[in-house]
Amino acid sequence: MQKLIITAAITGSRVTREKTPHIPITPGEIVQSAIECWQAGASIVHIHVRDPDTGLGTQDLGIFKQVVEPLRDKTDLVLCLTTSGIPGKNLPIEERLAPLELEPELASFDAGSINLGDSVFINSPEFLERAATEMKNRGVKPELEIFDLGMLITCLRMLDAKQLDHPAHFQLVLGTPWGAPASPRSLLNLHDYIPPEATWSVIGIGKGHLPVSVMALAMGGHIRVGMEDNIYYSRGVLARENAAFVERIVRLARAYGREVATPEETRGILKLNPF
Ligand code: ZN
Repeated sequence: MQKLIITAAITGSRVTREKTPHIPITPGEIVQSAIECWQAGASIVHIHVRDPDTGLGTQDLGIFKQVVEPLRDKTDLVLCLTTSGIPGKNLPIEERLAPLELEPELASFDAGSINLGDSVFINSPEFLERAATEMKNRGVKPELEIFDLGMLITCLRMLDAKQLDHPAHFQLVLGTPWGAPASPRSLLNLHDYIPPEATWSVIGIGKGHLPVSVMALAMGGHIRVGMEDNIYYSRGVLARENAAFVERIVRLARAYGREVATPEETRGILKLNPF
């Protein structure tokens, strides 16, 4: 079985200090948390940055640089920059794609539209085409974010049309109230459609994070954890730092007998372009 790739999703764009005092918001806090996750065994960090005025997500390139540059300097982490902006706020496409200018090895690619609370997270065909083209031109591998089977089918169609390249890397987002649930049946169903040469990872939202992590561990998939997806370490107990989630996955992997991939090994597994 492949070594396990652990991704840490440090902050996302929507979790505020009111929800948890432990959410990293400033560039310094995001960098510090990412370094702790790397030291704990994460090989990829998924990065959003926050607007200092609103505390919510922003696609401001200058703020991304304040996170990306120190992480490139101090770690060998694989960086996966977001192109989602604030899901549901639907920023202009140019703004969403701005972080690609920093040529990360990975960038998120939300493969379709979906309801999110009382809004809609719009990922129009035009967005998908432009994101795919720009990532291809810059040598950035898309991390294909899949909230339901339709999004996965969309990616398969884009792979057939050579808008996306093989081998693809899928990130299955399970357990939102509007998409595929964080259940074995749901994961197996999506897994059935993933091309054999592709790699895949799972995100379990909220209380779904541990069930899907354990399933991915056993099935040969990879795992994403972190406060973007879940702020509770256990029922009713807020996580104090992102690294605690990474440490728990490392412990589970060790107990199970699956080795954890280093960033260098992750680059090989995902066939990333050399940075
Ligand atoms: Zn994200």
